[in-house]
Amino acid sequence: MSTNNINRRRSYEVKVGNVSVGGNNPIVVQSMTDTNTSEIDKTTNQIAELAQAGSEIVRVTVNDSDAIQAIPYIKDNLKKMNIEVPIVGDFHFNGHILLNKYQSEAAHLDKFRINPGNVGKKNKKDKNFTTMIEVACKLDKPVRIGVNWGSLDQELLASNLDANNKLSKPKTLDEIMCESVITSALENAKLAEQIGMGKDKIIISCKLSKVNMLIDVYKKISEICSYALHLGLTEAGSNERGIVYSACALGPLLLNGIGDTIRVSLTTDINGNRSKEVEVAKLILQSLGIRYFLPDVTSCPGCGRTSSDYFQKLAADIDQHIKINMPSWKKEYPGVENLKISVMGCIVNGPGESKHADIGISLPGRGENPTAPVYIDGKKNVTLKGGNITNEFKEILFNYIENRFKT
Ligand code: SF4
Repeated sequence: MSTNNINRRRSYEVKVGNVSVGGNNPIVVQSMTDTNTSEIDKTTNQIAELAQAGSEIVRVTVNDSDAIQAIPYIKDNLKKMNIEVPIVGDFHFNGHILLNKYQSEAAHLDKFRINPGNVGKKNKKDKNFTTMIEVACKLDKPVRIGVNWGSLDQELLASNLDANNKLSKPKTLDEIMCESVITSALENAKLAEQIGMGKDKIIISCKLSKVNMLIDVYKKISEICSYALHLGLTEAGSNERGIVYSACALGPLLLNGIGDTIRVSLTTDINGNRSKEVEVAKLILQSLGIRYFLPDVTSCPGCGRTSSDYFQKLAADIDQHIKINMPSWKKEYPGVENLKISVMGCIVNGPGESKHADIGISLPGRGENPTAPVYIDGKKNVTLKGGNITNEFKEILFNYIENRFKT
C-alpha cells in the first residue's frame, strides 16, 4: 500500500471480525446490502457478491425478529462458501428490543451500527441506547455510532437552535446542524464509554448529504476525538451524481488523512448492480494513491486526431481483460495491482504518457504511420503493426506481469 505521503490522523484500532479498522491499518472498504435480510439466500448471495467485488465489511438491515434470526443462517451459508467477510447489523428504533431478546443471534454479527437519532425519545433515549451498548459489551462487539443528519436527534437540534437564537450573532442553520451532528456522535460515544465500552470498540460516523458540510463536519470531529472514523456521503444519489459527489466529498478528507473506513452510498441502478458502490469506493482510494486494487489503465479521451475507434476498443478490451484475470493474477502475481498501463490514441501525448507507465502503447493517429510503439519501463520496446495489435499487446502485457510479479 502506498500512503502517498498522506499523514493519517491517529485513531484507535477497532477489530471488526477479522478486519481491523483505524490505527495504522489500510482504509477499509465497506458496503451495505439492499435485500430483505430475512430472505436468507438472497441476502447471502448479495453479501457474497459484495465481498467478491472487494467489500471488506458488509452491513445488513436488522429491522425485525425475522431479520435477526436469519443472521446465524446467513453466516453459516457464507462460511460454506468460504467467505469470511464481517457482517454488521444496522439497528434503528427497535434495536434495544432485538438485541436484548436475540442475544445468541446477535452474537453472530461482527459489529452493531446504532443511530442515536433513532433509539427513542426523551427518557427512553438513553435507556434504549444503554441496553444496546450493554449487549455489545457483553458480547464483546464493537459499535458504530452512526449519526445521520436525516435522522438527527430532534430534541438535541431544537435545544441547540434555541440556544443559538439567544445569541447576539446567531449562527446559520447549517452551522448549528453541523455542530449538532458532532455533539450527538461525541455525547453518545462518551455515554457508551461510561457504560463500559472501550474506545477501541467505537467507530463514529457523521453523515450528511451536502458535500461541503460533510467535509466541515469530519474535519472538525477529526480534530477533537481519536475514535476511528467511518466516512461516507449519505444519500449520494445514483450513477454519475452519486459517484462524483461521493468522490468530491471523500477525496479532500482522505487526502488530509481523515477516515479509517469508507462507504459509497449509491442508489442501486436499474440492473441491480449493488457492487458498483464497492468499485467506486476502491477507485476513490486508488485515484488518491492510498490503496491499489487492480492495475491502472490510463487512456486518453480521443479527439480529432484519433484515426478510428480502435484505441477506444483496445482501452476497453484491456480494462476488461484485467478485470477478468485479476482474481487469478492476484494469487499468482502479488503486487500486480500496482501496475500502470497506458493506452493512447496518437503520438501527441502517447509516447510521453507511455513512458510514465510501466507498460504503454500509443496507437497511430490520423495521418500518422500505421504503427503502435510499445514502451516498457519508460523505454521503447517494440513497434506493433497490422491487424493483431490487441492480442500482441495482451501477450506483451502478460509476459511483463509474469517477469515482474511471479514469486
Ligand atoms: S493523445 Fe492524441 S488522440 Fe489522444 S486526446 Fe491527445 S491528441 Fe487526441
